[in-house]
Amino acid sequence: MFSVLHVESSHFFTKLYRRIVEGQKARYLEAGSADEAMRILETEHVDIIISASTVDGGIDGFVKRLGQSRFKILPVVVSSASDTAEERTEMFSLGVVDYLLKEDSDEHLARFIEKMVQADSRLDALKSLSIAVLDDSETVHEVMRRTFAIYGIDSMRSYYTAQEILAGPDHDIYLVDINLPDMSGTQIVLEVRKRAPDAVIIAVSAIDHYKVISNTLIAGADDYIIKPFNAMILMARLQASARMLLLYRELEEKNRRLEELVVRDSLTGLYNHKHIIDRLAEEVEKAMRYQHTLSVVMLDIDHFKNVNDTWGHQAGDRVLVAFSRLLAESARNCDIVGRYGGEEFLVILPETDLEAASVFGNRLRERFGEMQFDENEDLSVTVSGGVAEWKGGGHLMLVKQADHLLYRAKANGRNRIESKSQG
Ligand code: GH3
Ligand code: MG
Ligand code: MG
Repeated sequence: MFSVLHVESSHFFTKLYRRIVEGQKARYLEAGSADEAMRILETEHVDIIISASTVDGGIDGFVKRLGQSRFKILPVVVSSASDTAEERTEMFSLGVVDYLLKEDSDEHLARFIEKMVQADSRLDALKSLSIAVLDDSETVHEVMRRTFAIYGIDSMRSYYTAQEILAGPDHDIYLVDINLPDMSGTQIVLEVRKRAPDAVIIAVSAIDHYKVISNTLIAGADDYIIKPFNAMILMARLQASARMLLLYRELEEKNRRLEELVVRDSLTGLYNHKHIIDRLAEEVEKAMRYQHTLSVVMLDIDHFKNVNDTWGHQAGDRVLVAFSRLLAESARNCDIVGRYGGEEFLVILPETDLEAASVFGNRLRERFGEMQFDENEDLSVTVSGGVAEWKGGGHLMLVKQADHLLYRAKANGRNRIESKSQG
């Protein structure tokens, strides 16, 4: 949980801040003096310090003391009763990160804490990502490792040559030295980008020249950090990158789900009418181009209207779902299964001739005929089908042939699969 240490001697303000901080689901710790604050830091996890400007006679002493301790990376925010430009400048030059006015509204403080909690969740996000560091200097690896350790990140992996990182596993974030003995700066960025198109690539270099920086960014780096780097700035940039990466992934996942929604039938999860037709068009195109065999099976449940009338619409839906599952299970990976209409299904069988497609259709027919429906033991249903093999012509022609054979199966008594043209 995000923890706030409030250094303040006035009970009025500690009470007020506690209510607001806890209202943002953050943890509130209070200290009446700098000494007490240092003691608390020794035993408690703290993410940010909010200190009264008047602490122990002046904030500067407290900030300096923190700066000399192992807590120097903790951000310090000052809360003050007065606000002048000179005071602010002085505070910022001490390294204080923000400034709150005691007479500010509660809402202002609440928003501030909320923002901090969000930033903290970004750090959590960063912790979930894997980081690769490429540098030929062990010192750089050591500095990075220590910096990450302070922030609780232990997923860093070290690489010393371009060859090594390019042969290694995938990572989410790449920190790459662009001054390596075995590959040029642009080349390494290009290569890493090629193998990890969606990863974050941050170039790290001692070269501070606008031409090199712009060239590296154009080659595909997302950011450029100049050595020697400041640990806090490095972490802030990494967090910003992690945020972008995670937003991008979230968006991709949403798009993927949306695309699925568009092509799937909601009841059965099979491809819907439009998509199965689109896929058939593609498969016919492929069969034509590569001279491959291709067959389709059109299936229609027998007397399905009776099922609904006798057992109810919901039982009918269950039959449709069960049949769809059977279809999906019976089909090979390369087969494409769709719900063509209400109780009509179309299966596309690439690389399959008429005979094999008929075997497939008949096996399905038999299995479906034997199927038991838990809640209605007396309910049994059969299916009829028409099988057609592509012999040239458009995809709709193929559907028409299968449909024609399906109607013949119905006319010939149902619970059968027809595959030969009439005559
Ligand atoms: P046939 O053997 O000639 O195919 O007879 P049938 O009764 O199966 O054919 P018909 O076309 O007369 O009736 C199809 C029925 O399928 C009518 C319709 O209400 C039902 N149906 C279509 N979609 C759904 C659905 O999503 N759920 C349920 N429960 N029934 C559906
Ligand atoms: Mg029917
Ligand atoms: Mg029908």
